Amino acid sequence: MFYSNKKLISPTTINELHAIMKSRTNGIFFAGGTYIMNQQNYLKEEDTIIDLSNIKELDEITRNIQFVDVGCMVTANKLLDIGKLAFTDLLLDTLHNTATHIIRNQITIGGALCTPDIRYSLPGTLSIMNTVVELLDLSQDKLVSKFIPIDKLYNTKGELQIEKGVLLKKIRISLDNYDFEKFFCIGDPIRKPESTLIISFRANIDQTILNKVNMCVTFPTCGMYISNEIAQELIGAQLPLTISRTIIISEKITNDIKKEITGISALQIERCKRLIQSILFEIEPNQESIEISEGLF
Ligand SMILES: Cc1cc2nc3c(=O)[nH]c(=O)nc-3n(C[C@H](O)[C@H](O)[C@H](O)COP(=O)(O)OP(=O)(O)OC[C@H]3O[C@@H](n4cnc5c(N)ncnc54)[C@H](O)[C@@H]3O)c2cc1C
Repeated sequence: MFYSNKKLISPTTINELHAIMKSRTNGIFFAGGTYIMNQQNYLKEEDTIIDLSNIKELDEITRNIQFVDVGCMVTANKLLDIGKLAFTDLLLDTLHNTATHIIRNQITIGGALCTPDIRYSLPGTLSIMNTVVELLDLSQDKLVSKFIPIDKLYNTKGELQIEKGVLLKKIRISLDNYDFEKFFCIGDPIRKPESTLIISFRANIDQTILNKVNMCVTFPTCGMYISNEIAQELIGAQLPLTISRTIIISEKITNDIKKEITGISALQIERCKRLIQSILFEIEPNQESIEISEGLF
């Protein structure tokens, strides 16, 4: 089935890639190919496939104490292996939850973030980890690079907002520590994306008080919801939260989601409400910081 008559070019450097992209408007980046090869009419007659796999610079991971830079051609498995030493469970659980081991050897970080029409778990988790992406505009005479927060890649429907000819070159993941993290993917994201729900959640706890909350709810075919206002409202809350408070907050969040994102099913909303209640209910006071502060007196 696959495009035997298509033109394929394999640059080995960014400069070569730039020269190729400048001279044509129909270049399609090919990363792991797991999305492209599964789409019936994705490639048009006039398209040229630009294979990114021979550009070494795009497959690098570098680290300092504040962040990790990950090239767009790093695979999900490579990030998982190397990340065991750097990342907390939220990102590791998200990567583990992505497809099977064999497919994770093919899926690249760039490809996972740049599928045009469907959002899986990685964008949501990376969004709440203060990740930024480096975009490289290869369509201009001069190479222009800019960093933007990852959630700005998408509109509220979760559709990719970058122009053709713009390469997502790398992502920069911040290494902040959080006290409480949860990742849930309910449903079958590949076979039944329209009924699937993904929640990425993290919070910081100062003794018995919630002092930072980040949450993203992803509906693969409808969009991503990041709740800044409600997260703000939770700051200062006394832990553990009461059942009635978790019910009130989960209802506020789901009402907000219904207003902001269209096309969500009643099943997704119900699952979302219950999952948020159970996550909030599980957040406990931070015993370690209580013991440290008691030790001071
Ligand atoms: C059976 C199966 C199960 C799967 N299960 C899951 C799952 O559970 N969870 C999950 O998250 N994913 C899952 N996936 C993967 C997901 O559906 C996509 O196929 C995958 O994320 C695409 O990555 P890729 O590297 O193969 O990208 P490709 O298919 O090569 O490209 C995808 C898109 O991104 C563009 N692109 C690629 N790299 C860049 C770049 N650097 N800059 C700009 N644009 C770029 C391409 O032009 C194309 O439009 C599954 C895939 C399969 C086949």
